[in-house]
Formats: sequence, C-alpha cells, structure tokens
Amino acid sequence: MKQSERNLSRRSFLGTGIAGIVGAGLGMAEVRDARGQDKPGTPEPTTEKKPQIAEYRKLGRTKYRVSDIGFGNAGMQDPALLEYAMERGINYVDTARQYYDMEKVIGKLFPAKRDKLFITTKLEPELFTPETTEEQILTALDESLERLNTDHVDCCLIHSVGDPNLGDITRIQNPNIVTAFEKARKAGKALYWGASSHGPKMIEEFNWLMDNTSIDLIMPGMNMMTKGIEPVLAKARQKDIAVVAMKSLSAAKKIDYSKYMKEGRTARQGLLKWMLAQPNIDTISISMRTFEDVDEFVAASGNPKLTYREREVLQGYCALLDRDYCRPGCDACLNACPSRVPIHDILRYRLYFHNYGREKYAMELYSALPASKKAGQCVSCAGHCQGSCPYHIDIQDKLISAHADLTV
Ligand code: SF4
Ligand code: SF4
Repeated sequence: MKQSERNLSRRSFLGTGIAGIVGAGLGMAEVRDARGQDKPGTPEPTTEKKPQIAEYRKLGRTKYRVSDIGFGNAGMQDPALLEYAMERGINYVDTARQYYDMEKVIGKLFPAKRDKLFITTKLEPELFTPETTEEQILTALDESLERLNTDHVDCCLIHSVGDPNLGDITRIQNPNIVTAFEKARKAGKALYWGASSHGPKMIEEFNWLMDNTSIDLIMPGMNMMTKGIEPVLAKARQKDIAVVAMKSLSAAKKIDYSKYMKEGRTARQGLLKWMLAQPNIDTISISMRTFEDVDEFVAASGNPKLTYREREVLQGYCALLDRDYCRPGCDACLNACPSRVPIHDILRYRLYFHNYGREKYAMELYSALPASKKAGQCVSCAGHCQGSCPYHIDIQDKLISAHADLTV
C-alpha cells in the first residue's frame, strides 16, 4: 500500500469545524434488539444545525491528528451510526476482537471510507501470556484485519493489561509481543501498537511498557473520579506516546442536570469537557449507542471551559456516586478476599447493568466467571474485604446485590 493512500483525508484530519452546539430535541427512533443492545434507528429529517467536532489533536508520535471525541460502541450492529459520527467530524474509532461483531460492522464501510478513519483494534486479552508466540499474535491480527475488511489498522492494542485475573506482569514482559508488533509495523498491517487497561495494575503495567518497549499508545480508564494516573500521562507526553482516555463518564447515568448547566449542557457533556481540559490527553474514546448520543458528545468537542457553577454541579454529581463507584486502576482491595473474588470486575459488571443499560452484556460477563469467583459466597462470609476500600465502598453489600442482579 502506498504511503499516500494511508494519509487520512485533509478534511477529516485537519478540519476545524465550528461547534454548532445543539442540545436535545433531535427526535431519534430507538429500538432494542434481542440481545438487549440499542439499535440506532434512523434520525428524523431536520433543518436544525448539527453539532460538529471543533478540535483535532495530535495523537502522540503518530503522524495523525484526530478528533478530541472518538467513537466507541462494543455492541454496534449498524454502520450507519459510525457514518453519522463521521459526518459530525469524528475520525477516530476504537474497536476490539471482543466487541461482538463490531469489527465486521465497521468493515462494511470499507474500502470506501477507510482513509477517513484512524482505527484502533484490540486483540483478545487471553491471547497474551508469557508463552504467546509471535505467530499467534500476527495470526490474531490477520483475523482482525479480515473482519475489518482492510489491509491495515492504524494501531493494534493488547487488550486489558494490568488485570491480575489474566496473569501477572510477566504476560506483558513476553519479548514476542514487541517483535510481533514490530513485524506487523514493517509489513504495514498495524502502523502503531499500544495497550488498554482499566485494571487494578494499570499504572504499574503502563509504566513498564513505556519504560521498556516501543509502545506508541496507551488507553487508560480514567475520569473525574479517578486518582493516580496523572504521572503516567505526563510520562507518556514526555515520550510522545499517545493517550486515549476511556471510561470517561465514570458512573454516568443519564441524569438531567440541564437546568444547572450552561445553555442546556448535559452532565455527560460537562464530564467530557472536564476530561478535555486535563493536560496530556489526546482524545477520548466514548461509547455512542444512538444518534442522540453522537450529537450530545460531539457538542462537547472544543473549548473545554466550564463555568464555576457547572464545576460545582459536577463535583456534587461525583459526590453522589462516591461510595458507589469502583475506580479503574485501583488495587486497594485486591488481596483482601481469601477466595480471590474479582471485586473490581464484578463491580464493573454491576455498573454496566445499572448505569450503562447493558443488562445482558453484564450478565454474560458475570456468567463467564468460574463458580468459585462469584459473589454468592459473600452472603455467608465474615467480610474480610470490608474497610479495605479508600473510597468507603461497602464492598460486601454491593457484591451481594450484584450477584442477585447478574445471576441468570
Ligand atoms: S465478602 Fe468475603 S467472599 Fe465476598 S469479596 Fe469480601 S472477602 Fe471475598
Ligand atoms: S472496591 Fe474500592 S478498593 Fe476495591 S478496586 Fe474498587 S475502588 Fe478500589
């Protein structure tokens, strides 16, 4: 493939559209399919001015500039939603082998629209062990390329580093990872490589990768409620490694705080604007499941200024969730449970169930845990984990209710 063919369109990557901030009232038709996933439906015709991405940012040492708001949607079934996001100016899309058929759905837009997007995909987390071979990694990448209907991704990630359920740090210290990704780079199949994490050992493993490998991009789970990742981001910036934030809405339910926000801004837009104001973040990958979500999130692009009142509202919002929200990157309770119940994972599934509206997905994730790791045993436990959370989360109580909600 010629270099010129890889250059993303000037309009997409260098554009500086004006943010026409339009709030609600777009009249989306939303339906839910048999798997409980939202289908975007069809946006109703309107003469209303649609929001557009207002800022494109340099993506680390890559040669690309990407929209400050990026597109994610693990359950996407209709490429029209991504097309709609692209019309709004989004040129960064994140996917993964694990996200049901999302790679195949994106592939329906190719080859026609391939040069309009910077794509990151992630190989299956379980693939990476201390014994994984170069060939296994390159084969998995080829499978993703086939599903995506393209000859290259812009960046290929190790999915979920820093998750002790998948193994200790030796799984990412396997030298075959670097040599495989360098071969993929040379072959033009993955121009850059990186790692994602919202796991308890995220900070330690991102640091190791940045200090010891040629990694180009990190994707940490972080938001207004998390603490501790900032030095990692500063190091990434110093090394010119790209930072793509995820899990940025924290536990955001679609709560209507609009009467407190400037010109009808939603709390979710406020949280995104807070993220965009942080130093050392290049873009945010955020799950967009409807056309309405796309418009809401795109309207947060650009000037991240929040009013004093809005900051107060967001702080109150975070305070409300403080004792309920298990923070990405926290490992304080990791060794508290003698049965090694994966507390952080189960609390995250609970979040998907209650706050993200992804009940079936959450139940599937929970049912995949071995019986010995499930939270049913918490009912008769003395509660060794209690008191280990620096955020004062009542872990035992939340796990017992999570078990009841997530058990089929
Ligand atoms: S309640 Fe007991 S079994 Fe459940 S996570 Fe805490 S220590 Fe482990
Ligand atoms: S429950 Fe508390 S201590 Fe445990 S991972 Fe979550 S935030 Fe950290």
